[in-house]
Amino acid sequence: MHFAHDGRDPQAVLRQLVGRVQANPNINVYLESELAETGGFVGNFSSTLNTPDGPRSLRHGVVIVATGAREYRGADYGFGSDPRIVTQQQFERRLAAAEALPDTVVMIQCVGPAEQYCSRICCTAALKNALKLKELRPEAQVMVLYKDIRVYGFKERLYTEARRRGVLFIRYDDAHPPRLAHGFGDTDGRLTVHAWDPALRREIVLTPDLVALSMPAIPPAGVGRLASMLRVPVDANGFFLEAHVKLRPVDFAAEGMFMAGMAHYPKLLDEAIVQAKAAASRAATILARKTLPVGGRVAVVDPTLCTACLTCVRICPYHVPQIRPDHAGAGGIIGAAYIEPAVCQGCGICASECPARAIQVQNYTDDQMIAKVDALFEAAPIQIGGPL
Ligand code: SF4
Ligand code: SF4
Repeated sequence: MHFAHDGRDPQAVLRQLVGRVQANPNINVYLESELAETGGFVGNFSSTLNTPDGPRSLRHGVVIVATGAREYRGADYGFGSDPRIVTQQQFERRLAAAEALPDTVVMIQCVGPAEQYCSRICCTAALKNALKLKELRPEAQVMVLYKDIRVYGFKERLYTEARRRGVLFIRYDDAHPPRLAHGFGDTDGRLTVHAWDPALRREIVLTPDLVALSMPAIPPAGVGRLASMLRVPVDANGFFLEAHVKLRPVDFAAEGMFMAGMAHYPKLLDEAIVQAKAAASRAATILARKTLPVGGRVAVVDPTLCTACLTCVRICPYHVPQIRPDHAGAGGIIGAAYIEPAVCQGCGICASECPARAIQVQNYTDDQMIAKVDALFEAAPIQIGGPL
């Protein structure tokens, strides 16, 4: 990002932050490196990185996933076939350099995957760029073709300001999407945008110098592989899924794993910074401790009963049980389930599903539960068929 919607200079902030990180002796940065494998649990993770200098093993107490996002670059509206059709990010770069500024721009919102999900940041980016062009070239014409302008909170002022400066907004719906023609033939080489104006109830034809497509933010390549390596969930669009949208907004369900920024979903810079601080604070609550107490309510496997049927491995929502080849199961067969107490959430699902009844949840064993039920009915015997 070259300039923020509120006028701040993100590149200056970034340069300062990079300098502070590189100068801090407690921070190791591995550039151009890839996570090869990872495992462990809260307070005791171990990972291997493929770095330009070869594999590197690390021990760490927490994981923060901050993979970011990338701008979608599909071939929608002829993107890639004509240099006059650009994305908002490419247009922003031109504006920052104040080079090759167009006299007329048509911006098309909700392009590609954004037809299915709102990327949240595209409307703000479009308004920011429209206002910047008006600042650099007040006589320039900007037309925004949109389905629904979504600038929230105080950013609504950008919309008001854009209208005040003469930016035109033309609404379209799914039944009447804009059409873009370019190249030679009936357009004479001009960019030609056909749009349906619902107020006039007729098609209008625009011939801009430049078309800026509001491409949505999408997850970076390799997110699926990373998610399966970390055994954490992603949503239908490929963004990482928090444990609870209100109560644990930066946590994964697995203890000791957090997320920040666009890895979670598309967000603006100030939102990403706030979330990064929240994730760092959550991580510090673990890293600041010398020892980590684990809960008393955890599932325990009796390996002498386990037949390694994998039921608990498949059913645990936190992916805790593992079949350990160094454990002997029922009848001395090689391989039995093991549940790491530091990670188990004590939900009891595996205990209720184990066909061999090899799992008990500590403090909620079958014997304890049956004793409670017996005591309950002894205290208040049930009369069947008696008077109400
Ligand atoms: S469900 Fe029970 S028998 Fe099957 S692997 Fe797990 S502990 Fe073993
Ligand atoms: S008790 Fe719940 S969290 Fe623990 S291993 Fe069983 S299913 Fe997983």
